[in-house]
Amino acid sequence: MSQPAVFLPGRTIGVMGGGQLGRMFAIAARRMGYRIHTFSPDEDTPTGQLADLEVAASYDDEAAVREFARGVDVLTFEFENIPVRSVEWAAEHCEVRPSGKVLHICQHRLREKQFLAAAGLPLPRFAHITSEADLRAALADIGTPSVLKTASFGYDGKGQQKLSSETDPATAWAAFGGQPAVLEAWVPFVKEISVLVARGVDGSMVTYPVCENAHARHILDVTTVPAGIDWKVAETARELAQTVARELDLIGLLAVELFLLADGSILINELAPRPHNSGHFSFDASVTSQFEQQLRAVCGLPLGSTELLSPVAMANLLGDVWSSGEPDWAAALSMSDVKLHLYGKAGARPGRKMGHLVAFGDDPQDAAARVREARSRLTRGK
Ligand code: AMP
Repeated sequence: MSQPAVFLPGRTIGVMGGGQLGRMFAIAARRMGYRIHTFSPDEDTPTGQLADLEVAASYDDEAAVREFARGVDVLTFEFENIPVRSVEWAAEHCEVRPSGKVLHICQHRLREKQFLAAAGLPLPRFAHITSEADLRAALADIGTPSVLKTASFGYDGKGQQKLSSETDPATAWAAFGGQPAVLEAWVPFVKEISVLVARGVDGSMVTYPVCENAHARHILDVTTVPAGIDWKVAETARELAQTVARELDLIGLLAVELFLLADGSILINELAPRPHNSGHFSFDASVTSQFEQQLRAVCGLPLGSTELLSPVAMANLLGDVWSSGEPDWAAALSMSDVKLHLYGKAGARPGRKMGHLVAFGDDPQDAAARVREARSRLTRGK
């Protein structure tokens, strides 16, 4: 068998997607002397602002995708909803990591759940729904409360509806407009946690300390690391993430979102085969950030240490923070070890991820209190 290709500094990495995950990946890659090209439908993107080349074209534009792929050595993703067909076109011209197969599984909720179930991994009960009759049958089996989710293209709670015993299945199904869906049992979790795992070309793996994630309006709000959970649960979560990465035959970085139940058991909620919002802390608080780790993995370099340098917390800055005008950056930064990350986005719409803050602490709770304090200073007095 031929050795997997290694891409040393100086080579060119293509990033599909133009958001903040690609932007921070580009920062890590440029620091190590790589060149970055990015492809997305938009111009002046968060990634494009830091790239050597920004291509604005549709993911369905075969000629544009092929030309882009010819200009890079290895292609990776910061966004998984890229048509698999486009990845196949690209793979004819350059190395693609992670593979189109991984993307195909992780961009579709039903396929992802079927893959996890086939691998014997723990996840909430689910059923495939393509009609009102399916929904009625699944509700009789899974019961309520439960959640109806679109089978594809959902993130941050979009395309989801919680169903109770009061819900009329016909109305709920009509609201989905006939799109294939998944009904999922409601999980009475005590915490939401996530694990980042990286897997190299030689199958070596590293995991990061478990993240504890608090959501607001279905969007990640604050991540605290290390999670306040029993060390055995943390070990189990990290092993579970490694099993998923191995089963996927992943080359790259994967985030595994998990529900922790009162009895200490864990269920897998979702997979993201790319850097993840809950891993942003690693940019400031880990020996190797999730972005550098993705770079090392896709370039075939040895993986870096995931050692945490300090208890840490990250708070997202959504567009809402701008609702009374420019946030008071100086007030937050007067806490001198607080780190500000802004993604270069022009329109601060409510719910849009514009940036984040990171704060350290004596322990995770202290870090979380400090990052929340820093964020509240942005709008205090406005
Ligand atoms: P998702 O987009 O599927 O990750 O869902 C977004 C958020 O909705 C999750 O982070 C949870 O807070 C909540 N959620 C989703 N599915 C469930 C479930 N089956 N049980 C309880 N909460 C859920």
